[in-house]
Amino acid sequence: MALLAIGMCIALSSCKKAGISEKAKKEQAYSKDIFAMDTYMSLTAYGEHGEEAVKAAEEEIHHLDNIWSIVSKDGEVYNINKKGTGKISKDTKTVLEYAKRLNEETEGAFDVTIYPLMDLWGFTTQKYHVPTKEELRQAMARVGQEYMTIEDDTLTLGEQQQMDLGGIAKGYTSSRIMEIFKEHGVTSGMVSLGGNVQVLGTKVNGDKWNVGIRNPKGNDGELIGAVSVADRTVITSGGYERYFEEDGKTYHHIIDPFTGYPAENGLISVTIISKDGTLADGLSTALFVMGTKQATEYWKEHHEEFEAVFVTDESKVYVTEGLKDDFQSDYDIEIVRVN
Ligand code: ADP
Ligand code: MG
Repeated sequence: MALLAIGMCIALSSCKKAGISEKAKKEQAYSKDIFAMDTYMSLTAYGEHGEEAVKAAEEEIHHLDNIWSIVSKDGEVYNINKKGTGKISKDTKTVLEYAKRLNEETEGAFDVTIYPLMDLWGFTTQKYHVPTKEELRQAMARVGQEYMTIEDDTLTLGEQQQMDLGGIAKGYTSSRIMEIFKEHGVTSGMVSLGGNVQVLGTKVNGDKWNVGIRNPKGNDGELIGAVSVADRTVITSGGYERYFEEDGKTYHHIIDPFTGYPAENGLISVTIISKDGTLADGLSTALFVMGTKQATEYWKEHHEEFEAVFVTDESKVYVTEGLKDDFQSDYDIEIVRVN
C-alpha cells in the first residue's frame, strides 16, 4: 500500500511537472522593438515558436518598407514615382486594389496619388511650408487616383503623378504579420506599428486584449477609452500624429484632396476596429478626411465590415453600435446605430 502510494506520488508529480512546463511554453513571450516605416514598432508572439515568428515578421516588415518607402532607391514606389510606370509585386497590387476601392467608395477622399501635396507641405522632407494658392493649384492638378492604371503586374501613374502609400501600408503590414505568426504555429500575439495595433487570437489566458485609444487632445499616453478585442486590428488616424506649426496654427499630415489643405472636417481622430488591417488603415485615413457626417453615413452602409470610434473637434466621442459592450471610457459617449 505504502509502495503504491509512493508510486502514485511520483507519477502525479511528474505529470504535474510536465503540465507546468507545457503551460509555461505556451505562455512564454518573445518581444522585439524595431524602427521601420518611419515609426517605432513592437512585436510580441507567444508560445514556443514566438521567436522564429517574430524574426520572420521583422524580415517581412523590412522588405515591405523597402518596396514602399518613397526614398529607397531600389523600391517599387520610388522607381515608379520617378519613371511614371513599373512592375509591381503581389503585395503592392493587393494594397492598390484596396486603395482603388476606397478611392471610389469615398469619392476621392482617400487618394494614394496625394504625394505632390505631401511634398508641397514638406511632409516628405520635413521642410515644412504653408503653400500659396498657386502652389496648391498646381499640386492638386497632379492628384487623382482615377488616372492610375494597373494592367497585370504593371502600374502606370497619370501624367506627373506620384504616389504615397503611407495611409494604408502599415495596416497591410500588420495583417501580414498576423499571417506570418499563424504560419509559424503562433496562436496568440500582437503588434503595434506606431500605435496601430493588431492582435492575433486572445491573450494566452483566454481574455480579450485591451487596446487603448489615445485622447487626441491629451498628452501622449492619455486615453479616451479602450476596446477589448480578439483577432482584430485597432487603427487610429489623428492630426496629432505628425504636424508642424506656423504662425500659431497647426498643420497636420492628413490632406483633404479637395482643398489641398490638412483635412478639417470636424474629426480629430478616427479609430477603426476590423478583422482586416489593410481596410482599417485605409479607412482610418479616409474617414478622417470625410468628416463626422459622411464618416458616420459610410459606417452605416458598411457596418458589417468594421466598427469605429470618432472623436470630434468639440470633444464628442461617437462609438458604433457593435462596440457598445467592448468599449470602456470615462467620457460621455454617444452610440451610433445603423437605424
Ligand atoms: P499614420 O500613418 O500617421 O498612422 P494615417 O494612416 O492616417 O496615419 O496615414 C497618414 C498618411 O497617409 C500620410 O502621412 C500620407 O502618407 C497619407 N495620406 C495623407 N492624406 C491622404 C489621403 N487623403 N489619402 C490617402 N493617403 C493620404
Ligand atoms: Mg491610415
